[in-house]
Parts: sequence; C-alpha cells; structure tokens
Amino acid sequence: MTALRAKYPGENEYLQAVQEVLESVEEVYNLHPEFEKAKIVERMVEPDRIFSFRVTWIDDSGEVRTNTGYRVQFNSAIGPYKGGLRFHKAVTPSMLKFLGFEQTFKNALTTLPMGGAKGGSDFDPTGKSDAEIMRFCQAFMYELWQCIGPDQDIPAGDVGVGGREIGYMYGMYKKLARQYNTGVLTGKGASWGGSILRPEATGFGALYFTQNLLHKAGKDIRGCRIAVSGFGNVAWGACTKASELGASVVAISGPDGVCEIPGGITGEMIDYMLVMRASNRNRVQDMADKFPGAVKFTPGRKAWSVPVDIALPCAFQNELSEEDARQLKANGCWCCCEVSNMGCRPEAIRFFQDNGILFAPGKAVNAGGVATSGLEMTQNASHISWSGKEVDEKLHFIMDSIHEACVKYGTRPDGSIDYVKGANVAGFMKVASAMLEQGII
Ligand code: GLU
Repeated sequence: MTALRAKYPGENEYLQAVQEVLESVEEVYNLHPEFEKAKIVERMVEPDRIFSFRVTWIDDSGEVRTNTGYRVQFNSAIGPYKGGLRFHKAVTPSMLKFLGFEQTFKNALTTLPMGGAKGGSDFDPTGKSDAEIMRFCQAFMYELWQCIGPDQDIPAGDVGVGGREIGYMYGMYKKLARQYNTGVLTGKGASWGGSILRPEATGFGALYFTQNLLHKAGKDIRGCRIAVSGFGNVAWGACTKASELGASVVAISGPDGVCEIPGGITGEMIDYMLVMRASNRNRVQDMADKFPGAVKFTPGRKAWSVPVDIALPCAFQNELSEEDARQLKANGCWCCCEVSNMGCRPEAIRFFQDNGILFAPGKAVNAGGVATSGLEMTQNASHISWSGKEVDEKLHFIMDSIHEACVKYGTRPDGSIDYVKGANVAGFMKVASAMLEQGII
C-alpha cells in the first residue's frame, strides 16, 4: 500500500478499494508462498491497460463540447474483460480503476468466466436532451469500438448509462465495426438481444442476497422497513423486489434530499422512478410533487436519517459515512446491505461490524447485475432467448452460491459471518489461482 500510495497519489477511491481487499486477504495470502513468489498482489492491483480518448460532440445550441472517455481493462485471468460504463461529471481514472478492480473480484464471485473492466466519461447527463445523449453516445463509441468485442471486452451500463444509452452505442458500434454480433454489449433492449430481467437483475439479486443473509441470521424480511438511496435502475429493482417480498420501502433519496414514504412505496411510485430517471433532472423531489400527501420531501437530508430496519445504499461510492452509520444505529437499524459499489466509507463498515449490525459489501450484494449480463452473453452466443422464469432461477442460484462462498470464507470462530472478508477472499482466491496457473504474463 505504501508503494501504491506513492505511485498513485490522490487516487483515493482506487487506493481505498485496494486497501480493503488487501487487508481482507492478508491472512490467506500469507499461507500461500507460491502467490508471493509470482508477485500476484503486485500484478493484480495494476490494470492490464487503460484506454483514454477525447470525445467531442455538439450540443443542442450548436456549441462544440469536449469530454474525456476511458476504458480500464483490469484483469482477464478468468475471462474476457467485462464491466459497465459510467457517465458522471466526477468520473476520473481513479474512479474507474477502483470500479475495475472491484469488478474483477465481483465477476469472479458470479461463478461465470468473466474478467474485470470498467469505463466511462466525465460527461454529465443531467439536463441533457435525448438528442444530446444520442450524439454523445455515438461520439463515445466512435473511439471505444476498436477496444471492445464479444470475446474481448463487453461493456454494459452503470451510473448514467441505461438501456437508452446502450441502444445508441450499440447502433453506432455496428455501423463502425460492421460486426453484428449482439454479444458486444449487455443491457440491450429485449427485442434486439437483451436478456429478459437484466434491468431488474441488480436490485433483484441484491434482495435475494439480503434474504439469504437475514435467513442465516434467523430473521425475516417480511414487515421490515427499508431505506434506499437513489432512484435509478438499481434502486428501482431493489424497491420492486423488496415490496414483493413483503418489506416496506419508507425512504428514497437523491442528490437534492430525501423522500419519506410512511405508508411504504407503491407500485405506482416505483413506476414513476423510471420516469424520473429518464427525465435527466436528477431530482428526487419530483416524487413528492407527483404524490403529495403520501410522500414528504426534506431537502439536504439523506435516506440514512429515516428510522428503518435495513439500509440499502443504491447510488454512489462513499455515500454512507460513519456519521450516517451512527445515526442509522441510533434509529434502530440492524442491517445494511451495500448495493452500490463501495457505497460505505471504511469507517462506516467498521462501525457496523463493531456494533453487531449485519453488513455485506457491494461486490457480493450487487453481483446479480453483471451475472445476468453473463447470462445475456450466453444467450447471445447461442442465439436464443430464455424466459423470465429461467433467467430468474439462474440469478437466484448464482446469488445463493455467492452467499455460500461468503459464508465459506468469512465465518468467524464465534460462528458470525464477516461478509467483507468472505467476499474478498473468495474472489481473490479464484483470480489469484487463475493467474498463477497461466504463468508470468
Ligand atoms: N455496472 C454494473 C456493475 O457494477 C454491471 C456491469 C455489467 O453488467 O457488465 O457490476
């Protein structure tokens, strides 16, 4: 870590993600001198390669705009590079390196043969028209297409990139590459190669994992009050499945504040989340404006200020601080399943663990998204389409396997489970062994 900090000063998210994994795996790493001999850690923390490119496009007023695009191909030990694209004004190489690093272990946990990657741009979709989104996506793909391929690197969505953006990028990819293999991107529309249930998969998988975790702890999700941050695709899937399982989502939040829903979120409200996302306004207050009476908006506050049993961060990295963790506990919260990538600050995780609050990390909880992308790739490669029931069963099985792997590697001597250690060690062992078996490259 000392060497890495000196080499990449200021790459805080990346250093934070690496430190968490290295702390978790230290003990098992030291039991394997062959890993040390092959310098597995030194090789694993460094991306295989990073592409960086200029993206120039024209906005609706005719003004020329320039952004920076990236693709970080992190690790291909267990399969072709796989991971999403993030369009957000705060995107930097550090952010995409952290995400690519996490993706490598997450993908290893899915049981499917996928390596890790991440990409994106500092393009800010907030307030952009549909035509501007399309022109940006096309300009982005104008550079990216040479770096990707169905057996090489398969991007998908992430923050700021959903089905609409994947559609625009896929259209442009075909025009440029003259390759018509649907498997080059995942998260496609259902009528042109997309998997049924991919949009729901991250949120559904997160709730299947949460159910397993609660079951193991002798608890039941029915009747639990849940706070969710965000109102994008992941939060939408999580709210849908949580409600279906008999829990009550009583808070959702956005960058502008929190919406409290004392009676629990309804199907109509869940549908409205999609409208809010598509509007590019990035305002959760719109929910309160649409459902006055049932929803109360408070500006400047987070979802973690609302009394709940379970907290589900579904928005962005480091969105839950130690102070938030303390407030959650003071209000009676006893479980936090991280759905966003690295959603909790390390001090918040420590606080949860030291205070007996059940906690599981994003790379295990949210792996259902990329796992279903893996299932989309399988359907594309065999030119078939599975039913929703088939995909859901496979997703459920994968989430059960991930939970089992966490229990296998994370059970403490007192029988409780350290899900952070469990997920990190399970992912690490798989990637490290694959690297070792493939020689010094
Ligand atoms: N962006 C998602 C993640 O963080 C999904 C990636 C994918 O489907 O390739 O895992």
